[in-house]
Amino acid sequence: MPITANDPGRKSWLPVDKDSDFPIQNIPFGVFLTRDDIITVGTRIGDFAIDLGALHQLGYFNGIELTDDIFLQDTLNDFISDGKKTWRLVRNRIADIFDEKNTALKDNEAHYDRVIFTMDEIEMQLPVQVGDYTDFYSSKEHATNVGTMFRDPDNALLPNWLHIPVGYHGRSSSIIPSGINVRRPNGQTLPAGTDKPVFGPSKLVDFELEMAFITTDANDLGEPIPIDEAEDYIFGLVLFNDWSARDIQKWEYVPLGPFLAKSFASTISPWIVTMDALHPFKVESPKQEVEPLPYLRSKGKKSYDIKLEAYITPENGTPNCVTKSNFKYMYWNMSQQLAHHTSNGCPVKSGDMMGSGTISGPTPDSYGSMLELSWRGEKPLKLNDGTERKFINDNDTVTLRGYCQNSDVRIGFGECSTKILPALKM
Ligand code: CA
Repeated sequence: MPITANDPGRKSWLPVDKDSDFPIQNIPFGVFLTRDDIITVGTRIGDFAIDLGALHQLGYFNGIELTDDIFLQDTLNDFISDGKKTWRLVRNRIADIFDEKNTALKDNEAHYDRVIFTMDEIEMQLPVQVGDYTDFYSSKEHATNVGTMFRDPDNALLPNWLHIPVGYHGRSSSIIPSGINVRRPNGQTLPAGTDKPVFGPSKLVDFELEMAFITTDANDLGEPIPIDEAEDYIFGLVLFNDWSARDIQKWEYVPLGPFLAKSFASTISPWIVTMDALHPFKVESPKQEVEPLPYLRSKGKKSYDIKLEAYITPENGTPNCVTKSNFKYMYWNMSQQLAHHTSNGCPVKSGDMMGSGTISGPTPDSYGSMLELSWRGEKPLKLNDGTERKFINDNDTVTLRGYCQNSDVRIGFGECSTKILPALKM
């Protein structure tokens, strides 16, 4: 079935700025509270939020097999469970409803008022109930930087790294949508030059510039997903800031890996951009230096050219772009990650979220964390207000942005933004 929603020549009767992340070719999915305090599944064109629950009740999805309440939900999990064919039919239909050649909704004032909101009238929610959250460690540049800093520059990558998409199971309970403030965590750390740990506010709070993919129900217990089918089970992508407390991490991570240094918060952008919308931006993955085992050999273009940026905005200050990276730098692609994740028979469900790992590029201005950008604090970054940052200060806001652009169209993710508040006094 063709992805007619992606037609680059299509224009909407809703006004869309030239630089908008959300032209009619995007049609992401999210969940929002309306001005009447009703929660609904929706999409976005330009700066307008569209209530898919209302559209469905008014008959605009007639002919597509959908349950009556599929969009009258506080999560997208059930819709995602319906599978790729339904996602594509719904996206194609939304494109037709808002195409400038079709003014049925535009000309029906009662319907228009029920369906369309301006962005300042609504409040974005978490788009899915995340059952399980896994974070990978799939950027070779990032793994090399961290290995160089903390172990041995000559053997920066551990022996398994070129053979396995390394990952760990995170906490889903602290995944939050953009716009929610986060307190600096308290935790146990070992001050430099001492052998007695202390408990108190982390001094080294850091962002991690990542993307995360969201899956549908993929497999039953005991049944691996073959790598050639893996992409069919991925619904879409969000920006992902995997907040990290480096001092807590350094003390706690041996031998079982990340724990409380990571689980205090992770922020996502609230609109899930579908794999269909990203299809025009597929690119080859980086050449793998060691041929992976057969179950991890992916064929064809399985990476995506998504430009990524991170900004720090001090309290009462203006944004400072501190890095520019790209999702295409990932050494292990999403198909490899999902095939590996299920290779032991572990089931993956609708709404599960898989983080990419920090996405660092090849140059120092493309690193995906303050740990790398300031090289452990040895090279502080200068901000436009004259202050310096080694890590993130109280009342700083960190904003991630991401978008794809070709000569026809720009498909973006909006923003993933969080302010760090002072720690609770213990
Ligand atoms: Ca991470």
